[in-house]
Amino acid sequence: MVNAPDLEGYTFLGWGPAATEEGSGWRVRSDYFARCHRCGDLISLWTEADESCRCGRLYKDWSAGRFGHSDGDVSIAIYSQN
Ligand SMILES: [Zn+2]
Repeated sequence: MVNAPDLEGYTFLGWGPAATEEGSGWRVRSDYFARCHRCGDLISLWTEADESCRCGRLYKDWSAGRFGHSDGDVSIAIYSQN
């Protein structure tokens, strides 16, 4: 796993669901973004759109209620927008 580099305009919160709330599971906020630790692409957790990152490992399938990373949830870096 690569280190989460500083990202202009964003604050790194941590890895995986634990970064979004205490306990398990995702808590969605409009200023939260998930970042693929491999390709570095950012995906909004908020928009109701199906998205995936450039390398395809980080995915969001809104209609199916699926969100995750091929390497596991803890490999998702969570950022908030400043
Ligand atoms: Zn990726």
